[in-house]
Amino acid sequence: MLDRDQCLALDAEDPLREFRHEFVLPDGVIYLVGNSLGALPRRTAERVRRTVEDEWGRQLVGGWNHAGWYEQPLTTGDRIAPLIGAGPGQVVVGNTTSIAVYQAVAAALRLRPERRVIVSDLRNFPTDHYIVQGLAGLLGGYELRDLSEGSFEDAAVVLLSEVDYRTGARADVPAVTAAAHAAGALIVWDVCHSVGAMEVDVSAADFAVGCTYKYLNAGPGAPAFLYVNPRHHAAAENVLSGWHGHAEPFAFEADYRPAEGVRRFAVSTPHVLSFAALEAALDVWERVPMAQVRAKSMALGELFVELVGDRLELASPADPAARGSQISLRHPDGYPVMRALIDRGVHGDFRAPDVLRFGFAPLYIGYADVYDAATTLLEVLDKELWRDDKYATRLAVT
Ligand SMILES: *Cc1c(COP(=O)(O)O)cnc(C)c1O
Repeated sequence: MLDRDQCLALDAEDPLREFRHEFVLPDGVIYLVGNSLGALPRRTAERVRRTVEDEWGRQLVGGWNHAGWYEQPLTTGDRIAPLIGAGPGQVVVGNTTSIAVYQAVAAALRLRPERRVIVSDLRNFPTDHYIVQGLAGLLGGYELRDLSEGSFEDAAVVLLSEVDYRTGARADVPAVTAAAHAAGALIVWDVCHSVGAMEVDVSAADFAVGCTYKYLNAGPGAPAFLYVNPRHHAAAENVLSGWHGHAEPFAFEADYRPAEGVRRFAVSTPHVLSFAALEAALDVWERVPMAQVRAKSMALGELFVELVGDRLELASPADPAARGSQISLRHPDGYPVMRALIDRGVHGDFRAPDVLRFGFAPLYIGYADVYDAATTLLEVLDKELWRDDKYATRLAVT
């Protein structure tokens, strides 16, 4: 088992060590929630200031033409594409992941009109299947089948996450994609918990969705992305047929006529201020070797698991290759344990009923941080510091 000095030595020779200086993190905080809301890149404030003061303030409505605002859903899509194994002209950015799930699943259903089964994973982040439930209710006549039932037979579409938000378990994307296709189904991958944590490749999928505020660090409420495989560009329909997906939005025609290519999946006016923060985050990602991110992420997770030992049940897979970039542990009093830990500067989060989540964002978390986080966790458990009454009351967001 490594001691703290050995962890510091690993930090000193870490090829990603310089990236830590690109993030603003409060002193005394070990931030292990980058899988929920990524940390603030240092360059973001200036980039947002530029959009507010120089672009909006000086160019006013001219910003749509002269500051590139109008094209941002596609230009930032092209910058995200390499992070998910996609090419230019295949990704559109905007709205939220929930909305992108709606668009992708609805488009898939229209491409498979003769089929009436939607396969989803009830353990997936609930918004994904809530959205499917709402869509199926609107359309009527669809059967929702849980992944645990095992079969893709007769499925129109399969909607799954690459990395499970609760346990961090990682799906075998190529194998599951091939199985869905062999059954004649289309597949939508949600990469919210894998993009920015590992090399992602959804190029064989039909659609993919993901958010930019987790490992990508684009900030609270940052826009989501939607990948549409080029083989569907001509036939796939956007059921949210807003004017920005129209072939000529400024022709103000009476009838909807879809744009060519992935642009037809744009919906409405982009959130320009949020795009500014996304652009700043992508400036960082363009310099990051993703293979190094994945290698360090696995090493950090392994170190944490070893240090915690058998004190808590591991809810994540034991094999690092079968995990994303988080470690989940179970404790019957997980909520007060996490509150006590946060009080001591170690920020993880809690997912009902009993899961403590620790996300390791390799750009700004180091080996000594993991050492300190694990030691603090063991202290909270050994001294039963979580039993303090002040940790019992629930906050709105945990
Ligand atoms: C984080 C996350 C979302 C977030 O959805 P929003 O629409 O941005 O609120 C959706 N799905 C999954 C799998 C997630 O991990």
